[in-house]
Amino acid sequence: MRSSDQKNQEPFHACRLQENIYSVTILPQNARKLIYSNQMAIALITGITGQDGHHLTRLLLAKNYEVHGLVTNERDIRYESFVSKYPKIKLHSGNLSDYESLVSAINVVKPNEIYNLGALTFVGASFNEPEHTANVTGLGTLRLLEAVRTSAVKHEIRFYQASSSEMYGLVQEIPQNEATPFHPRSPYAVAKTFSHFTAQNYREAYGMHVSSGILFNHEGEYRGYEFVTRKITSNVARIKLGKQSRFSLGDLEPKRDWGYAGDYVEAMWSMLQQDVPSDYVIATGQSHSVQEFLEATLECAGLKGEISDFVDIDQKLIRPSEVPLLIGDSSKAKRAFGWSPTIDFNGLVELMVKNDLQIESKI
Ligand code: NAP
Repeated sequence: MRSSDQKNQEPFHACRLQENIYSVTILPQNARKLIYSNQMAIALITGITGQDGHHLTRLLLAKNYEVHGLVTNERDIRYESFVSKYPKIKLHSGNLSDYESLVSAINVVKPNEIYNLGALTFVGASFNEPEHTANVTGLGTLRLLEAVRTSAVKHEIRFYQASSSEMYGLVQEIPQNEATPFHPRSPYAVAKTFSHFTAQNYREAYGMHVSSGILFNHEGEYRGYEFVTRKITSNVARIKLGKQSRFSLGDLEPKRDWGYAGDYVEAMWSMLQQDVPSDYVIATGQSHSVQEFLEATLECAGLKGEISDFVDIDQKLIRPSEVPLLIGDSSKAKRAFGWSPTIDFNGLVELMVKNDLQIESKI
């Protein structure tokens, strides 16, 4: 990738598609500089009530942003918990499946940055509701980008798309980087791949400042309870406290590159501070199986014994098509903006176990 900044020349962004073949996007002049350098920056976050929404809100507030969020359901428990934590954040009713609500949110908020985190995110559930997943997780991105494109301020908005390592699916190379071909293995991953290419298309076709973070799994204290890491740490905490004796899991063999969500939202923000938009892999570069995560959690909680002493394998939890191994190479992000993870696998397990022991001991 290279860019030009010379006088009397349009800046351009050249993206390598294959060896010696580049797609070139002419960027509008204002895409090169921070348009909000003299004012308080305004961010609009879709999916603000989710895990990454929590971390990103905290980060942007610390950077003195005015933060707005799009929320789908004001009676939801996640909404209530978010509002109790951040009572001053301005929340706007809207839905990625409703184009008009997105246009309205953009017109009201007039954001400098949009972080599109909203999605139906649980891979397992996407097999049971593929059409809904395609509509929200796939078409929702198209609707939001189209709402930006047709707004009066399309070149004043920087857009972050939450792409996913699940797009690599049946991996074509190890480790995976920005040039690795995708082979999605679930309705969720197919929808994310559609969104990823749509984001790329809006960048190339309309010169919009759109960047995608291809984030590998990231976890932490706000992770949803349906995800395997949280399922493990919360159930192990309950066993440790004598509240239950066993729980069920599906396949223990898949390997994932697990990092800490707090580190990953730093990378999202950094991507939007780059003059030239691009795509970046964000990962730790280390991979561990579900079984290893479980063993590390049991050890951290001080529970001795075999896995079978605590866990039943439930065939119903095994997915129709699984992703056996993910491991990312985030050296491009390190070169571009110095990103690297601060919390490793054992640190992540410890953080999540301590957090769940604290929560469970209060219930
Ligand atoms: P999460 O905790 O599941 O949060 C998802 C958010 O999306 C929730 O706030 C949810 O709000 C919102 N949402 C759901 N349906 C929506 C709709 N129709 N319109 C608007 N918003 C909707 O997910 P996360 O872990 O924070 O992940 C953030 C983003 O990163 C997601 O796009 C995810 O796919 C992507 N990603 C995550 C990981 C990871 O390991 N965490 C890895 C790669 C990519 P409601 O509950 O109000 O509906």
